[in-house]
Amino acid sequence: MFSFNDLSVEPIINACGTVTRLGGSPLRPEALDAYQQASLLAVPLEELQTAVSKQLAHWTGAEAGIITSGAAAALTLGAAAILAGNDPARMECLPHTESMPNEFIISRDQRSGYDHAVRASGASLHEVGLNEVVSGAGVRRTETWEYESAISDKTAGILYVYTDDSAPNLDEVVALGKQHGIPILIDAAGELPPPSNLKKLIKSGANLVAFSGGKAIGGPQATGLLLGQKQLVGSALLQMLDMDDHPQLWNPILSDKSELQGMPRHGIGRGFKVSKESIMALMAAINCFLNEDNSQRMAILAGILSDIQTTLEEAGISSQLVWSDRETVPKLQIPTRAAFEVCQNLRSHSPRVFVGHGLLDQGILTINAIALREHQVNSLSQALINCVQSE
Ligand SMILES: *Cc1c(COP(=O)(O)O)cnc(C)c1O
Repeated sequence: MFSFNDLSVEPIINACGTVTRLGGSPLRPEALDAYQQASLLAVPLEELQTAVSKQLAHWTGAEAGIITSGAAAALTLGAAAILAGNDPARMECLPHTESMPNEFIISRDQRSGYDHAVRASGASLHEVGLNEVVSGAGVRRTETWEYESAISDKTAGILYVYTDDSAPNLDEVVALGKQHGIPILIDAAGELPPPSNLKKLIKSGANLVAFSGGKAIGGPQATGLLLGQKQLVGSALLQMLDMDDHPQLWNPILSDKSELQGMPRHGIGRGFKVSKESIMALMAAINCFLNEDNSQRMAILAGILSDIQTTLEEAGISSQLVWSDRETVPKLQIPTRAAFEVCQNLRSHSPRVFVGHGLLDQGILTINAIALREHQVNSLSQALINCVQSE
């Protein structure tokens, strides 16, 4: 046994959600079992990922799918697949892309730190559109014709970051991509739940979609999914797998050997390797995620939040439950004076508490119960009362 305690690292109360900085989501017990089982046996990883691909296809409606070391890795690999296709010479070049079309068109208001993952493949981003709503200068966001006007012989793909209210509409962007033969790569890392998004984004006709495995699915923190067209997913897999074998013995299963000029060497994704244990643990977690009643899971989280709300109310602190869509994660918002100080005091409280910090500049602390353990609820409420009241 070796624990956080042996390193003198004190675990926190995570009331923030399945965020990477705080270690992602709690691992489902079924995933832990699968991890342990898988650890005792050996399997060829290419064969395992190909079998995984069939199961993911069955679950999501995608032609193919692989497990990656996170959604960010799925974005790098997805972009690498679009850039190189089945050409081993291009795979070998990456991240140097002078000799190939290398631009991904992206709406300016969809840029974020996560698009570094796409740029890491060697792609460059071609920004389009203006967000006049955010700049306070108007009512319009990026429009589809602006993507179209950016298409040139340098265009490799379109990067689309999906949320409930991303603009322009995904269907319009997919139709444009189809019309010009330009593949669409979607970042949907955090867009689960609802579980229906796993199928919906594939059904949109997008070529590749990236999801996190360590967020609401409850798989290992360092896992993700890349779903989509078989040829592209096959290319992504080739660029991730270890390639140390003899060409005459090598038999790629997900890719068509006759379409490959030769056997690629280790690709740009070799550093993103996923262990057999992680692969099996994520598969077990997805199986649970798809077989459970998601709205009931969300209702349980809402119940925890309303208990916290009641405890806070008894201490004279008001809060608001925000839960517009019953298939998505409910949140409790606590307006407070000096929100940054309260947030800081919570982080140094005993026990330490991390709350959602997305609305601090509006003076609001946010509580998300998805990564909270049941035995932590009372300590959380008490910490909130201590820190909010002392401001
Ligand atoms: C979390 C997130 C990622 C990164 O996902 P990982 O699985 O941690 O690699 C990428 N894009 C968005 C929008 C995210 O929310």
